[in-house]
Amino acid sequence: MKINCRCGSLIIDQTDYHSNKGYIISDQDYFDLLEIIDNAIEKSGPTPKDKERAVMGIRSLIGGFQKNVYQCFSCGRIYISTKGNELKEFTAVEHSQGSSILSSTKGESWKRPIIGDWDDSRKGEILGYLWCYGYSKEYSNSENFQTLQEDYFKLLGDLSAKGTVRSALLKHNKQVIHSWVPN
Ligand SMILES: [Zn+2]
Repeated sequence: MKINCRCGSLIIDQTDYHSNKGYIISDQDYFDLLEIIDNAIEKSGPTPKDKERAVMGIRSLIGGFQKNVYQCFSCGRIYISTKGNELKEFTAVEHSQGSSILSSTKGESWKRPIIGDWDDSRKGEILGYLWCYGYSKEYSNSENFQTLQEDYFKLLGDLSAKGTVRSALLKHNKQVIHSWVPN
């Protein structure tokens, strides 16, 4: 693989042990990866063949989570391979457009937690929060818990239909009103 850097230099990825190449795993994906490794070790059978199958399985799954990162030796620019091996140059401009090089390799299909939390005892104007990657919202003291609750269930329905919910939790004044985790 060769990358034409914007500065005119060539970044070459042809052998192993490159000092200007590395791997990134998103924090969004990290715990899924650990779980896959745990499962593969715990559930692998006793024979050497079983172990080999588990190891190969883990390697191929890690490949699905990792992004490659390259740095140009001449100018120091950073390039990240995104899903589908498309290359992205990291610049502050891209960042300000809301694109994160550290987000999940699963993109929009990443399974995300939904947390709704309203607390009357909060200091300041904001009493309620809906935390969910891409859909977060704040609720001021001129609104009420009902609004947050409606938004929570609407979001849960929408994202469940897309299969992108990891877990859901709704709290009102520290009491759990609703919770959901997959079986
Ligand atoms: Zn360069």
